[in-house]
Amino acid sequence: MKKFWSPMVRELEPYTPGEQPKVQNLVKLNTNENPYPPSPKVVNAVEQVLQHQADALRLYPDPDASVLKQAIAKQQQVDVSHVFVGNGSDEVLAHIFKAFFIQDAPILSPDISYSFYPVYSQFFEIKTQKIALNENFEIEPQDYAVPNGGVIIANPNAPTSIALSLDKIEEILKLNPDRIVVIDEAYVDFGAESAVSLVSRYENLVVCQTTSKSRSLAGLRVGFAIAQPHLIEALETVKNSFNSYPLDRFAIAAAVASFEDEAYFKAQCEKVIASREKLVKQLQEIGFNVLPSKANFIFVTHPQRDAGDLAQKLRDVGIIVRYFNKPRINQFLRITIGTDEQNQALVDFLRK
Ligand SMILES: *Cc1c(COP(=O)(O)O)cnc(C)c1O
Repeated sequence: MKKFWSPMVRELEPYTPGEQPKVQNLVKLNTNENPYPPSPKVVNAVEQVLQHQADALRLYPDPDASVLKQAIAKQQQVDVSHVFVGNGSDEVLAHIFKAFFIQDAPILSPDISYSFYPVYSQFFEIKTQKIALNENFEIEPQDYAVPNGGVIIANPNAPTSIALSLDKIEEILKLNPDRIVVIDEAYVDFGAESAVSLVSRYENLVVCQTTSKSRSLAGLRVGFAIAQPHLIEALETVKNSFNSYPLDRFAIAAAVASFEDEAYFKAQCEKVIASREKLVKQLQEIGFNVLPSKANFIFVTHPQRDAGDLAQKLRDVGIIVRYFNKPRINQFLRITIGTDEQNQALVDFLRK
């Protein structure tokens, strides 16, 4: 019964998160989590909070998460005034939509992209114009030369896994000097070029990243944005009108430790990339077409096998991948890169 609901909520179609199954022993390749644990220094940092600051848990955390902003600024080589943090990049993106995209003209986004964007558009009553990817599932910068209220692109794109070069991102920025261009870099650490290096030159650029994938911290919910201070100020205004303490003490301590352990981070990313290249080869050998991936997942299709059917058969043997029953991509599977053992289990089954 929706009688008591706000009228606009009656119409909302919420995002469907990838399944988080309750049963053990599944080969879980469906939500692009990292197959490896976070740095031991992260675990230690959380233990330190419990051991030495347990009393502080009765106190609110730093509303500004300053130590975390400083750690991110150092790692990203920007001034701390260019950093915004939030409870996962999904929350950062929500604030971005609210802060910049409530405009008269529709925002632009690829027809195939992260499925949270249309949910925020509906939530904040923002019009969206979908721009079709080309036949190779690539973004064509010239297509973003139409009147708009802002642009949002995931790079690498999800679920296609394809990366856009910095030149092309710059083309889109130059085509839209009076509009905000958001680059969602949830997967950038697995081989794409980050647009953070462009932030000082483009007053209209917002780059969003997360610790959920490349830093193995999906369970702690820490995301961030990098942009010029005049844009960070808008995000802080929205955040402080919604939830002033979005990051708890554990999340702050853990994320700081992660940004301080660059060696571990780089090694884990390289491990995932090596596993990806191996898995791509194996799947190609058994007839799959694999889009060129710069992410920790791949997007694959087989000319003789129905993707929905394959997803179900994999599920029956305890291997879960993501299937989207949507136009243009309903013959594709999105497969998260697991450990080499998990990937091998997938290949062994598909080979049969
Ligand atoms: C996973 C993902 C996010 C959200 O990440 P969180 O920080 O865990 O909220 C944002 N954008 C894209 C494209 C993603 O795939």
